[in-house]
Amino acid sequence: MIDLRSDTVTKPTEEMRKAMYEAEVGDDVYGEDPTVNKLEKRAAQMLGKEDALFVTSGTQGNQIAVLTHCQPGNEIILEEESHVFYYEGAGISALAGVQPRTVKGKRGNMTVEAIKAAIRPVDIHMPKTGLIILENTHNRAGGAVYPLEDMKNIYQLAQEKGIPVHIDGARLFNAAVASDVALSEYGRYSDTIQVCLSKGLGAPVGSVIAGSKEFIEEARRWRKMLGGGLRQVGVLAAPGLVALDNMIDRLSHDHKKARVLAEGISTIKGLSVKNNVETNIVVVDISESGKNVGQWTEKLKENGVLAVAFGENLLRFVTHYDVSEEEIQRALSVLNKIAG
Ligand SMILES: *Cc1c(COP(=O)(O)O)cnc(C)c1O
Repeated sequence: MIDLRSDTVTKPTEEMRKAMYEAEVGDDVYGEDPTVNKLEKRAAQMLGKEDALFVTSGTQGNQIAVLTHCQPGNEIILEEESHVFYYEGAGISALAGVQPRTVKGKRGNMTVEAIKAAIRPVDIHMPKTGLIILENTHNRAGGAVYPLEDMKNIYQLAQEKGIPVHIDGARLFNAAVASDVALSEYGRYSDTIQVCLSKGLGAPVGSVIAGSKEFIEEARRWRKMLGGGLRQVGVLAAPGLVALDNMIDRLSHDHKKARVLAEGISTIKGLSVKNNVETNIVVVDISESGKNVGQWTEKLKENGVLAVAFGENLLRFVTHYDVSEEEIQRALSVLNKIAG
């Protein structure tokens, strides 16, 4: 199978498995797992933050960020198709008791003006704006990068208003590689960052949230409360360290494979590429193809290619470590064949 459903389908590399086997471990709830401590320190340094916390998933990291930054009854500003709003089961409302204020973005990016207009004035009728969340890269916008300049302006506004900024950086490494921005720059223009080790970087499990020492201390309480305090979890932090050390620069290959796939698809009758492919995601509109999305995913599967339905007329393809350039060519032949 050529699995282009997501960059989460990668299997840990040989180096990762070896690192898991050899990992020095301890009880992380007591702060005694040396491998976890090393991973948290490394991630904090890379992201330009004081401290960091290893969490079980990107969703858990984002939810802990909202729980730590906000009070029940706050309102948070986030993009209308952001992961936190779209794909986290209304956790922000169910767990943190906050109300979402969604803003429509342009290719997933909310302008500083739109955010400014959404910030609540001080008024007893209104909720307090407790947090702004930016998603970089933006999944539903097809891996779109948030330009650093925009992030800088948003952060400046947020600082003036005393509102924290959280980055949902599940694919922040893709953004950094695609736009040649140092990871620490993202740390300069945000209060907290969540990054996934289990997406493009190929680690089997885990995310990291980074922020101030004080924030991480509080976040650690929330993680425990959510059942995310783990014991000899150095076995999972070890492949995370391999991911941070060796798997970031190679993301440019995934981006190239996505461009090749998109260029090929754009020549197929009835298919059109919906997004400007900046990173590793290709969103394809199939509405002119004479088949619906369900028929497409089924036919693709019969021919050894996996993709996901991404809306009524949309398919999503994601390139990653475990798919070769040759397999991209094979996927293109299959798409051609199905399109007829
Ligand atoms: C995948 C993803 C998450 C959630 O990560 P999980 O590890 O799957 O919980 C959060 N935000 C974005 C933008 C994502 O793409």
